Amino acid sequence: MHASLLNQRLLLYRWDAWYDLGLIDTPSWSSALKSMLLFRAITALLICLLATVASAQGEIPPAFQPEPRPVPASVHALADIRLELYFSSLKQGGVGLLRLDGGGVAGAQAEVRGEIIPFFRQDGDAWYALVAVDMNTSPGAYALNVPVRRGSGDVSFALELRVESAGFIAQTLDLPGDRAWLEDAEIENQEYAALDALASAISPVPLWDETGFELPHASELTSPFGAFRQLSNERRTRHTGWDQNLPSGSPVRALAAGLARFAGQLDIRGNYVLIDHGLGLYSGYAHFSELHVAAGQRIEAGEIIGFSGNSGRSSAPHLHWETLLRGHWVDGAALLDMWLPTPSASVDAAS
Ligand SMILES: [Zn+2]
Repeated sequence: MHASLLNQRLLLYRWDAWYDLGLIDTPSWSSALKSMLLFRAITALLICLLATVASAQGEIPPAFQPEPRPVPASVHALADIRLELYFSSLKQGGVGLLRLDGGGVAGAQAEVRGEIIPFFRQDGDAWYALVAVDMNTSPGAYALNVPVRRGSGDVSFALELRVESAGFIAQTLDLPGDRAWLEDAEIENQEYAALDALASAISPVPLWDETGFELPHASELTSPFGAFRQLSNERRTRHTGWDQNLPSGSPVRALAAGLARFAGQLDIRGNYVLIDHGLGLYSGYAHFSELHVAAGQRIEAGEIIGFSGNSGRSSAPHLHWETLLRGHWVDGAALLDMWLPTPSASVDAAS
């Protein structure tokens, strides 16, 4: 389509060039002019027609196709129940997906390191759970038990969760003198407590949509999740998310659909938005110059929630974004890559 459009334009250009160069025989001015005008009219009509078809084609939004469920890393069977693990091991700060498949399941939970993680029913007989490995978890092997309740007799899977080192880096952070007070440990502890309280509500259904999780801005990821940070007052802290260097005023998008639980000011995170994605999964966005949403607001996937800035404990304009899963700081980049079930209207929470 485009090639033929280009050819017609070239032809038109050549006609003019040949005419100018005297390469076209012009026995009669009037007949040559008539032919040329007719040729140009037909060509212009064709070009308009082709351009209209091309632009109409470009305007049709491509139908969104959710990614098909990948092959699990391992499958375990007890009676007629299948338990699928979509990871072979998890890094510190990692997120892992479990799927149960089988008839008559009334509920299930995953138990790891003293935490009880409910499964949620997605479609038909499929149940899912998201396992979080806190960034502070030591590498090693941990018991992963999955008791399943069902009418024809309960079963329990006894598996192992291997946690690997994420190789977190070390950084030093230099703050401008007028923000040095934000290095105070008490201020940081209070802010963590406030975030824990905000992110403690666990929506029993996923609030993300079929588009899943995407970067909040297309720019390069800079300072990584989990870095050990040395502040100028010698205190050590952790980097709970990722940084992206952005000029002030750059639009920042929600990682996924959800519900805004907080939009306001915090000491360290500055102007901040916290979005609930369901099942205890939250994303936070810090140092905004301007907030674009309010607490309680439904957020669409990719919606602009604010504009980047330099508020809070920040030494230059940038975006800091972070993810929490049931109170654990997890690597949001892992969510961008992983397959997640598409929420459906018929979702039931496991109990
Ligand atoms: Zn950061």
